[in-house]
Amino acid sequence: MPRSAKICVSSLGCSKNLVDTEVMLGSLAKSGLEITGDESDADIYVINTCSFIGPARDESNETIAKALKWKKKRRSRKVVVAGCLAQREPEETQKAHSGIDLMLGLDEIASIGTMVQNMLRKLDSVHTFVKEDLPVYLYDENTPRLLVTPAHYAYVKISEGCNHKCSFCAIPTFRGKLRSRAVQSLVKECQALLNRGVHELILVSQNATDYGSDFGDGTSLSMLLRALDDLKAPAGEYWIRVLYLYPTSVTDELIQTFAEAKHVLKYIDMPLQHASANMLTAMRRGITPDRTTKLLAKFRDRIPGVTMRTTLLVGHPGEKEEDFAALQEFIRHERFDRVGVFTYSHEKNTHAFGMENDVPNAVAKERESSLMLAQQEISKEKNQALVGQTLRVIIDEVLEDDDGVRSCTGRSGGDAPDVDNMIHFPWSEAIGDKIFVSVKILSADAHDLKGVVAD
Ligand code: SF4
Repeated sequence: MPRSAKICVSSLGCSKNLVDTEVMLGSLAKSGLEITGDESDADIYVINTCSFIGPARDESNETIAKALKWKKKRRSRKVVVAGCLAQREPEETQKAHSGIDLMLGLDEIASIGTMVQNMLRKLDSVHTFVKEDLPVYLYDENTPRLLVTPAHYAYVKISEGCNHKCSFCAIPTFRGKLRSRAVQSLVKECQALLNRGVHELILVSQNATDYGSDFGDGTSLSMLLRALDDLKAPAGEYWIRVLYLYPTSVTDELIQTFAEAKHVLKYIDMPLQHASANMLTAMRRGITPDRTTKLLAKFRDRIPGVTMRTTLLVGHPGEKEEDFAALQEFIRHERFDRVGVFTYSHEKNTHAFGMENDVPNAVAKERESSLMLAQQEISKEKNQALVGQTLRVIIDEVLEDDDGVRSCTGRSGGDAPDVDNMIHFPWSEAIGDKIFVSVKILSADAHDLKGVVAD
């Protein structure tokens, strides 16, 4: 196989994993390998797996099986498995899929280029590079990274790992302990991204509010946001979006920063998981319903126009009808702008794995649908209340139909890519090559809004 073999990459799971994929692509490209989006043309298939919950593992295993089938069509083809599943269950994964040529853990992502070259030159007799210790790797501003998001936005990982011990979550057991990047490293990376035309910096981590606490020197998310709020924007306008706040470490200072910063979006994405006292205790969330309600009220009081998003988990062991009823009431009362709901997945090495009072899966699924249905009504009402208002919108896509008619899709500051609302509006000459436009909303349902450019 030539040294410039072609590689295709499949990235599964969340935006944090996508950043890892981008680091892998940077390493692969730097080592002289050619990246292709066409698997039929590729010599090597890299899968960056996810292992967060059962369905994510299923998808990872299915993708590996598909890649191994692809491999059989040409003798020289190779399959490389990386990411969370490789880190969490290297032996089980090798056993379940014979024919994997190379397996890498989370500490190896930035060395994948060299490792693949060594594999091609048959320099390594070992095929699995997954350390037993918890991973410690974290990229920095100098790490080669090939962005795969649209040119106007980029994910930036501010920290890795988590020190919490939520009962249902296995992430700390394979992503490791909290380790934050230095403020200066993030400032340099984000400035470079703005310089190359990025207009939305999306800060990701397992838990953004704990950012910097591992340094023990007062570094905080608030401090980071204020530093990023002062970047030089060649094009003037840019957004900073923060994902995954953990409620118990939200400070008054952080809320103040969200309220005051010019570029930080008034978008609070704070997974709360549950609202009944029993379940918050069982889930080891370190918060009470009363404290949760007060925190939400504080966000709303101090940040006018804030968009509140949360994620909830149903079907955790011990969730009784009355706990679920409390959660339903909470949703109806708090009227979040956006809500995501997961059903519990039994995960090895978690506290909840040993619990015996399981909720039948069918009941958990029913609870998930019922919550989503209730939220759909709320989302629809909230979106319809925007009719007649003008929103600042970032344009994600311009499409042209068979008749040459162009239309645009974008998002408001209250909408993160892939998970929130989309705003559709016809193309107009006034748009030109603008990234941001003002759009007057004309109609709305639970997820999609339609409007016209008002610039
Ligand atoms: S905060 Fe809890 S749910 Fe989130 S990554 Fe940490 S342990 Fe998992």
